[in-house]
Amino acid sequence: MSLFTPVEMAPRDPILGLNEAFNADPRKEKINLGVGVYFDEDGKIPLLKAVARAEEFRQQAMAPRGYLPIEGIAAYDNAVQKLLFGQDSDVIQQQRIVTAQSIGGTGALKLGADFLKTLDTSGIVAISNPSWENHRALFTNAGYEVQDYRYYEPSTNGLDFLGMLEDLQALPPSSVVILHACCHNPTGVDLTVENWHEIIKIIQTKQHIPFLDIAYQGFGQGIEEDAAAVRLFAESGMVFFVSSSFSKSFSFYGERVGALSIVTQTTEEAQRVLSQVKRVIRTNYSNPPTHGATIVNMVLNNPELNALWQEELASMRKRIQQMRTLMVQQLKNKGANKDFGFIIEQHGMFSYTGLTAAQVERLREEFAIYAVSTGRICVAALNMKNIDAVTDAIVEVCK
Ligand code: PMP
Repeated sequence: MSLFTPVEMAPRDPILGLNEAFNADPRKEKINLGVGVYFDEDGKIPLLKAVARAEEFRQQAMAPRGYLPIEGIAAYDNAVQKLLFGQDSDVIQQQRIVTAQSIGGTGALKLGADFLKTLDTSGIVAISNPSWENHRALFTNAGYEVQDYRYYEPSTNGLDFLGMLEDLQALPPSSVVILHACCHNPTGVDLTVENWHEIIKIIQTKQHIPFLDIAYQGFGQGIEEDAAAVRLFAESGMVFFVSSSFSKSFSFYGERVGALSIVTQTTEEAQRVLSQVKRVIRTNYSNPPTHGATIVNMVLNNPELNALWQEELASMRKRIQQMRTLMVQQLKNKGANKDFGFIIEQHGMFSYTGLTAAQVERLREEFAIYAVSTGRICVAALNMKNIDAVTDAIVEVCK
């Protein structure tokens, strides 16, 4: 008998499990569309040129590696605010935003969850159905009751907007509502600006606490366009939370660079809130790591590197859009028995294709094409070399 005798095996992460199965598959022409990262045309995770140059500068500077302040690099935090809220944002000028560097977007969500736990909320966190897997687990672990709100409508491959409004309305007042600001993971189905206006009205009336998760800024319609929701919430005058991440937009996954931003009512409130967020950080990991945020900071605050980064981000975005268009065209030309046009309307890296679990299984068994059983594919894993095989197989399993 040991301390660990009663410890049960935790369930495996379904997507990591899929990757393991893919790696173990001996078939040569296998294709993995189950991943959650951007691959370039050659099927590789890119190292952005802007990042490589900043890393060279940093290497040459031989900078010492002291501790960062608890809330991270101040210039980085300011740059994040401008990216999210806009260069001329009122809330920035009024010093009503608190931003702390975080360990990726996940770390930002956890900091927000822990700080919110000290406040007066309903204790309920509402997430979209479906949502990024980790939302439920993270907020459950942080001590909340997690509920779904309706979001995706399989019959239209689109949004169940009325269902979403009804469910937000039905939540107890002061519930925390997690909203994907753009490029919804896993469906790719986003809200329009008009939709956001209505959501804001309900959230305001019910005094819910909005928590915007923006992990794909620049992957949808553009850096500024993708931040529209953040800016609408800022204009509404509400207090709210934003978790953001550079994992995707800098192709910086393992560097773990993100931020938690909290919009408060006054400058004085911002100072008190910051002091509490710092306490959460201090008691979790003391202070954040230096490398990733230093590089992001160098790129964002250097006009030349910033322009280069924006170009590189645009080319990632455009390649994804091209793949969406090509996929839909090919499926049509090859006589698919249904219209996949909705895939072009979706945004970001992911697509809910509408394929059933049985069809996904056939893709894997018969064609060595791996997708998530919900029908989610990573559009950024498609390229000119594999797209034909993928659309051939989809037409076949849909027959
Ligand atoms: N939110 C969403 C919606 C995501 O899809 C992801 C990552 N895939 C994250 C947060 C977490 O981002 P990070 O990898 O920077 O922790």
